[in-house]
Amino acid sequence: MQLHWHRRDLRVADNRGLTMAAESGTVVPVFVFDDEILAHAASPRVRFMLDALAELRAWYRDHGSDLLVAHGDPKEVLPELADEYDADRVVWNKDYSGLARHRDAAVRRALDEAGVGRDVVHDAIHHEPGSITTNDGEPYSVYTYFWKKWRKREKESPYDAPDADRLADVSGDELPSIDELGFDEPDADVQSAGTAAARKRLDAFCDDAIYRYDEDRDYPTRDATSRLSTDLKFGTIGIREVYRATEEAKAAVADESDSEPDGDEGDAESNDEATNDDVESVEEFQSQLAWREFYTHVLFFNPEVVSQNYKEYDHDIEWRNDADELQAWKEGKTGYPIVDAGMRQLREEAYMHNRMRMVVASFLTKDLLVDWREGYAHFCEHLADHDTANDNGGWQWAASTGTDAQPYFRIFNPMTQGERYDADAEYIKQYVPELADATADTIHEWHELSEMERERVAPEYPEPIVDHSERREQALSMYKRARGDD
Ligand code: FAD
Repeated sequence: MQLHWHRRDLRVADNRGLTMAAESGTVVPVFVFDDEILAHAASPRVRFMLDALAELRAWYRDHGSDLLVAHGDPKEVLPELADEYDADRVVWNKDYSGLARHRDAAVRRALDEAGVGRDVVHDAIHHEPGSITTNDGEPYSVYTYFWKKWRKREKESPYDAPDADRLADVSGDELPSIDELGFDEPDADVQSAGTAAARKRLDAFCDDAIYRYDEDRDYPTRDATSRLSTDLKFGTIGIREVYRATEEAKAAVADESDSEPDGDEGDAESNDEATNDDVESVEEFQSQLAWREFYTHVLFFNPEVVSQNYKEYDHDIEWRNDADELQAWKEGKTGYPIVDAGMRQLREEAYMHNRMRMVVASFLTKDLLVDWREGYAHFCEHLADHDTANDNGGWQWAASTGTDAQPYFRIFNPMTQGERYDADAEYIKQYVPELADATADTIHEWHELSEMERERVAPEYPEPIVDHSERREQALSMYKRARGDD
């Protein structure tokens, strides 16, 4: 008998650790609510996790078993459960973040002391930290080189869910409510959780948007991204399953072009072009999956980046850190419409479109001159998909302190970003109702309007809290001082 300890792998299919456990005996599935981990959680993520756990438990119950649910410190709970169920081994999938590694080391020691075996299995990403390195065996700090190797490496196929006869006939307690875990229901409308919901998102994406991902992914109203980030964070779907679907999407394009009737040469050429575009688009999506793995490696080898700059400057960056400006940013009341729309999407949906994450992060660090750690903490509090590696990577990129970071002198202009990626101000109007009756032109010129015009067009919407051009100059000076150039 063995325990499978579910953590960030809230699924049964394509679960390497679970499959390995089931191959060698009967499995008792377990989930532990750990107070130390919960202390870092936020209500949107707790909501998503509880819903995913409810689906997981239902699956086990349908298959003659159950999910044992415990509350406490895993290093105490797991040896006790192993003893109670006469299990000689505990199996779990690796989590590469610093906190999890610290916890897992303590669990390993406790199991060793109790004489219980354990297997810690690589599962969450395709290629483990340390498996893709420079020719000198060093971890990559530049994504492009990482990606070149990552894309060529063979990928494993998904694993099947375990057979019911491999699951122990056990009976677990009911799941706690969100309230019992010490959290309020989130104000945000968190997306549906569980493997069925994740598969639905993956299927829908691979049927359509994956082929226009390359072109449309930066436009928040084009619905061109997969929305799988929270699923990947909690492991409600396996990475091999996602990757296989993308390969099938590629193959479908090739099949379609093979079956096209021969036309004249001009038609054939344009068909080839369309096929290439489709394949490139799928690969662009795969390259985002590789970013996730790149940042996982970065965090694994540099756990201190959670609170420290990856790239140190000669001197400390003298952040301005004005509390009122930070608050206005958090509330989506900066008077920069595209920034405010992003920040309000975050509160309403516990999610924000990637382009908007880049815009609001640039605005916080380079217009408000607020330390990226404040932004990271706010995202951590509100995002359902908050993932230490990706969130940290994104913030340090925007703040020009990260691995492949934006050079410090690349400063997004929030007006141009709005005009380019939300030309009709559709996204802005969706999240900033004060601007619902304004024209797109007026919205994109908000910073240039007179006080009277602003009052006439949208009296409830704030005027810009800072002047972008002035702040741009201040940001450049701030970074130059940190570099020792001034
Ligand atoms: P898609 O475009 O469909 O991408 C597919 C998957 O690839 C994503 O689900 C994600 O797992 C991965 N991915 C995509 N872009 C990136 C990226 N730049 N870095 C790493 N992985 C990526 N992503 C998170 O998963 N959690 C976070 O906490 C997070 N915080 C971010 C903070 C900032 C400041 C920035 C700039 C980006 C952050 N990202 C984060 C990356 C990215 O914004 C989200 O992964 C993406 O918006 C999620 O939507 P999607 O699933 O539709 O993405």
